[in-house]
Amino acid sequence: MKNLKPATEALIGSLQELLGPQGWVSGTADTGPYVSEWRGLYTGSTPLVVKPANTLEVSSVLALCNEHCVGVVPQGGHTGLAGGAIPGLEDKAEIVLSLERMNTIRSIDADNFTVTVEAGCVLANLQQAVTDAGRFFPLSLASEGSCQIGGNISTNAGGTAVLRYGNTRDLVLGLEVVLSDGRVLSNLNGVRKDNTGYDLKQLFVGAEGTLGVVTAATLKLFPAPRGTATALLAVADPGAIVRLFSGARDALGDEILAFETFPHIAMEMVEEHLPGHRSPLDAAYPWYVLIETAGQLSQALIDQHMLSFLEAGIESGLLTDGVLAQSEAQRAEIWKLRHGISEAQKLAGASIKHDVSVPVSVIPDFIARASDAVAQRLPGIRPVPFGHVGDGNIHFNLSQPEAMESGEFLDLWEEMNDLVHSLAVEMGGSFSAEHGIGYLKRDEMQRLSDPVDLDLMRAIKHALDPQGIMNPGKLLLP
Ligand code: ZN
Repeated sequence: MKNLKPATEALIGSLQELLGPQGWVSGTADTGPYVSEWRGLYTGSTPLVVKPANTLEVSSVLALCNEHCVGVVPQGGHTGLAGGAIPGLEDKAEIVLSLERMNTIRSIDADNFTVTVEAGCVLANLQQAVTDAGRFFPLSLASEGSCQIGGNISTNAGGTAVLRYGNTRDLVLGLEVVLSDGRVLSNLNGVRKDNTGYDLKQLFVGAEGTLGVVTAATLKLFPAPRGTATALLAVADPGAIVRLFSGARDALGDEILAFETFPHIAMEMVEEHLPGHRSPLDAAYPWYVLIETAGQLSQALIDQHMLSFLEAGIESGLLTDGVLAQSEAQRAEIWKLRHGISEAQKLAGASIKHDVSVPVSVIPDFIARASDAVAQRLPGIRPVPFGHVGDGNIHFNLSQPEAMESGEFLDLWEEMNDLVHSLAVEMGGSFSAEHGIGYLKRDEMQRLSDPVDLDLMRAIKHALDPQGIMNPGKLLLP
């Protein structure tokens, strides 16, 4: 990485000529949207944003940048939270490579249950096209209206259906990737069995653009569920939530699509700060669970299974209250509450975020110990632990004490990270379950990861990107 150079006028000119007037922007005003994150943590700079129209153009851009030792920051829908797609954070004047123009769905093979799509396709558009073809693509997350599938792949996005369908990694059958020197690795044949050596495509899933640029993917599709049931439940405490989850797996098996939780304070923030968001329950409760099931049975049967499960929960005392969505509109209302938490928390003052995972059985203990630890350090701090119980993935986010000044609170970012991340790792979990490393967690990666893991990652990085041009300074410390 020490060899990297800023882009020269000559290189910028060559790239502009190569891509034509539609294929680039420069200048502070036009590059502005590409150099800062929506949460406002990171703002960088770039001399040029290139927007190639096809794989060949991506290949030419990388070959040129590699030849000139100029860093390239690949960018999708720009919804990340970890600084992974921000250029110029270390005065390196990297070029941004936006995939936004490569947004075509190349083909849907309904009988093979696959779709082949370009990296810049917005996730919601991909979901819709697949639905129109009578199939189902399960990846779903709060930012699906703007995030792009290439970014989802490069960050191994999780979301709300991981419990049943796995992370993005589990949905990828093949990738087309442009390597740092411009060569193209392509495996889009859509076969489900291929035992010919190393599974190279998986190296690029979750690599955060540090090994190459994902330009297209062949993804697994599923039968469109015939029935869906969604309920919002009231539960006393995290122990009851985990017991309820075990019971749900026993009773409902593979019908469970999502099992999410959030505490009362999250409901309060959403209701207070987001217009049109209201709990469908008559009273306030300490914890909520959003459970969704889906399957190939009729709607009536799916509803009946859910109702039996809810009745059993009330009888056993695990459930205090609950409401089953009676229409698609009610279902959307319930999901809106869960998806609104990040935005509402942002409006409720400064927050320090954590995205940790622990074994599901350990969640109650983790929430209790982490809440104690942060409250001891800062009385009045407001933990908002919410997330994907079924995956053991808790967004242990901390809102500032009401009376505190935000800047003063944010000064505690690293100290709070230390407490929470160390505890998650100590309890057998991960300090970064879903949002990745990016720029934000490089130091934590160095501090908390196994040295053998780090050695192998550096060796792979060096083998695939010897000049270090791909998303320099992200994921691994230089
Ligand atoms: Zn999440």
